[in-house]
Amino acid sequence: MEISTNNHIEKLKVLHLSPEVTPLSKAGGLADVAFALPSALVDSGIDARIITCAHPGVLDRARDLGWKVNYTRRKLNVALDWRVISSKLWKTSREGVTVYILENPDLFKYENIYPENFEPDDIFPFIYLSFAALELPELIKWTPHVFHCHDWGTSALPSALEWHPYYRRERTMYKTVTTIHNLAHQGIVNPEIIRSAGLMEGFHIDGLEFYGSANLLKGSINASDAITTVSPSYSREIQEPGQGMGLDGLIRSKRDKIHGILNGIDTNYWDPSKDPLIPVNYSKKDPEGKTICRKEMLECFHWEDNGKPLICNIGRLYSQKGIDILLPAIPKLIREGARFVFLGTGDQHYEKNLLELAEHFPDNIGVKIGFNEPLAHLMYAGSDLFIMPSLFEPCGLSQLISLRYGTIPIVRKTGGLEDTVRDFGRDYEGWGFIFEKYATEDLVHAVLRSIECYRSPECWRKIFESSINLDFSWKRSANEYIKLYNNIVTT
Ligand code: ADP
Repeated sequence: MEISTNNHIEKLKVLHLSPEVTPLSKAGGLADVAFALPSALVDSGIDARIITCAHPGVLDRARDLGWKVNYTRRKLNVALDWRVISSKLWKTSREGVTVYILENPDLFKYENIYPENFEPDDIFPFIYLSFAALELPELIKWTPHVFHCHDWGTSALPSALEWHPYYRRERTMYKTVTTIHNLAHQGIVNPEIIRSAGLMEGFHIDGLEFYGSANLLKGSINASDAITTVSPSYSREIQEPGQGMGLDGLIRSKRDKIHGILNGIDTNYWDPSKDPLIPVNYSKKDPEGKTICRKEMLECFHWEDNGKPLICNIGRLYSQKGIDILLPAIPKLIREGARFVFLGTGDQHYEKNLLELAEHFPDNIGVKIGFNEPLAHLMYAGSDLFIMPSLFEPCGLSQLISLRYGTIPIVRKTGGLEDTVRDFGRDYEGWGFIFEKYATEDLVHAVLRSIECYRSPECWRKIFESSINLDFSWKRSANEYIKLYNNIVTT
């Protein structure tokens, strides 16, 4: 994809910023998007690159995966907190996407990527990453047209181009896009952090100021040329007080630059017909392998097959994910003939409640606490159903992955779940089971419908075939991003 600037034609260049990038580091869905979107953009002819940071283990993981990681012999210096902070600049590439990795063990010291606290030392690594992206073009002699920031962690960049005494000189050189993956996380910090970062000129109502604190995401919403959300429904929902998380008024006022673009998944990585992390591959034409994956998963939980449907849940165990309505439903659903398997980490009380339930119903609930990529693949492949009763869901990738593996989602009608799952109602045309009200009873009803369908071979074959056939690849969404980049670069 080429664009015409200053009377010459050149390739559109986009730098994505993300503190997490699959498969090098991952806390959630953002990591998947941070690699898959640039990769789809490259396939469409865009020069898309990524800048990220070397949390503990990242460089080793890249080498273990066989990525060639080269030290550029360059140091990236950023003035922050009244000192100059330096990191080593590494470069690697995969599927045509160049990835720049910043190494500074004193700065990027947490394996978990996101901080529990919001003390200055917890926040500076994120501001550093944002400013480092602005230093990169001069250092490597490659100038992007667009900086594409993701969530609060990289939101200091658009603010810096607007209000930083040094970087704002470069405002006219670049366009900025910020994608909101989850408005629940805004990066609300003490204004002193903003002062140390040189962003104090943006500390006002139309900038970063937020009830006396500094809100990094708010700064970005004000300063970016375009804002995207990860599904069309979510872009509407966050304009309402319920899901606006205190920013709905601001977002409504910026509605002209807000675009809902549905996430896709990396269909090369998530592919039951060639996934190396599952025991036997399968496809729509040759579905037998799914039965073997199912057997292996049962063994993993030391269970015999008793013919009951296996309902899995993989994800962060937080209230957003609807655990509060799911937990009370479990005993009843077990009595009705369901079996559950959980893989996740999160709030300790949810972990504890799940482990207690598993102790109480050892034959019908299996719980693995932790982050485990290989087990996640086995569970997507080996389960019959996937439950995701989210309170809110900006897009959700897990339901898309489960559909790709022919594992039928049971979801609440919200955000991206509403945009991607069609109810298998009376017309037998859908590929999931949806309920609307955030209530245990409604969840139970949807699960009972799914069990009924599971028990009818004809019904189950139909829904399996509809699900595994769907295309949630990045191609279509990447084209929407390209349109957006073109619009902002040429206006
Ligand atoms: P969110 O970004 O809100 O966490 P998404 O559904 O968008 O939710 O993406 C979650 C991603 O993280 C999926 O790829 C899912 O498979 C993965 N994931 C979440 N928890 C775990 C876990 N405990 N182990 C392995 N993968 C996980």
